[in-house]
Amino acid sequence: MIHRLFVALASFGIVAMTHAATPVLVIHGGAGVVKRDMTAAKEKAVRAAMTKALLEGYAQLKAGKPAIDAVTTAITVMEDDSNFNAGKGSVFTHDGKNELDAAVMDGDSLRAGSVAGVHRVKNPILLARAVMEHSSHVMLVGDGAEEFAKEQGITLVDPSYFRTEERWQQLQKALKEDAQKQPPADVETAKHFGTVGAVALDGEGHLAAGTSTGGMNDKRWGRVGDSPIIGAGTYANAQCAVSGTGWGEFYMRTVAAHEICMKVSMLNEPIQRAAAEVINQEIPSMGGNGGAIALDADGNIAMPYNTDGMFRGWIGADGVPHVAIYDDEPDPSNHPPAPATSAAE
Ligand code: ASP
Repeated sequence: MIHRLFVALASFGIVAMTHAATPVLVIHGGAGVVKRDMTAAKEKAVRAAMTKALLEGYAQLKAGKPAIDAVTTAITVMEDDSNFNAGKGSVFTHDGKNELDAAVMDGDSLRAGSVAGVHRVKNPILLARAVMEHSSHVMLVGDGAEEFAKEQGITLVDPSYFRTEERWQQLQKALKEDAQKQPPADVETAKHFGTVGAVALDGEGHLAAGTSTGGMNDKRWGRVGDSPIIGAGTYANAQCAVSGTGWGEFYMRTVAAHEICMKVSMLNEPIQRAAAEVINQEIPSMGGNGGAIALDADGNIAMPYNTDGMFRGWIGADGVPHVAIYDDEPDPSNHPPAPATSAAE
């Protein structure tokens, strides 16, 4: 009887059926790559940063550390690199500020932490983790979150730290477009992705997920996207971990990360099918676009996306970091092509 209850709870992702596992780390640096228009130097720098994130994150797993350590380590490397829309190099709001969002979730305990709209926290993913581990809350926003950061000894920086010229010019371009047409019609804005995320499986068979972002270029009115919303852009349970990247409003409306994990936990769907159904069918059918990385407790990886490309990387048993950007680069996932109706067309 107790065993049946245990198995039932496990199938809802409520308790973990712990088993020794081969560690795996999967990361993304955002979806929405516009067809091979990056300079060779930028592409090289992005690939190098992702390789570094994979190696440093995987070192945690090899040292026997929990999945959450690999996730926060890999994300911190990408937050510190100005090529990504997270931490340094984040996109600007409509009124020229950087407002950062991040979340982490531990699949074994179902504990989670997130922050939104912070503008002085160097590594929002570390603050999200502190919220999870050292507060009785799940989500803190704005000035209150930064007050908590101070108490926790989390590094604060001057807001100018996040600024890059490239992101500033992206905002200027969007402002010009704004002046010509209403924001909801501006599909171009939706292409300025570059969020970072990680999912990991540790040697104990436990999963974790995390996501960090500057949100969407030219965002207004304190807009918060899916990344820090547990279940939308970030989710992990005993069988599945997901980090999304894309047009956040659609990930929130489909509760995308949770939806993928429920298909895995409750319907027993293979993770690649579950992730592809949500990312490449449900979200585009509503007019959204983007991608996600997903990992199950057996180490199976899914990396669906319906944009021109997705910065994605993975490292497993052989300890060799793999990075891919474009559609013609092989990866462990078998993502189907974007449906014809996708907003990414
Ligand atoms: N999903 C993020 C947001 O909507 C953007 C991204 O993934 O780049 O805030």
